[in-house]
Amino acid sequence: MAITTEPAQVYRGGGRRYFTLRAAARAEAKALINKHCHCDYCDHEGYGREHLPCRRHQDEHFEPLVEKLAARFIRNYRKDRGAS
Ligand SMILES: [Zn+2]
Repeated sequence: MAITTEPAQVYRGGGRRYFTLRAAARAEAKALINKHCHCDYCDHEGYGREHLPCRRHQDEHFEPLVEKLAARFIRNYRKDRGAS
């Protein structure tokens, strides 16, 4: 066995490269959400920092929103390339 190299297609999303369209679409979705984030933080002197999530980053909203946006990015990607 030896190390070899081979060219591979990568998908760029959220400023990084991914091997799957789905991973890139999720990264792009998260980047878009972060762009419109209104999370806040509350400092408790000596007791750490409390994260006060904005509506988009609340657990029950975040994952469905990522999936919805990712699906849209995938659709647009396929449409732009004419299938596949
Ligand atoms: Zn947020």
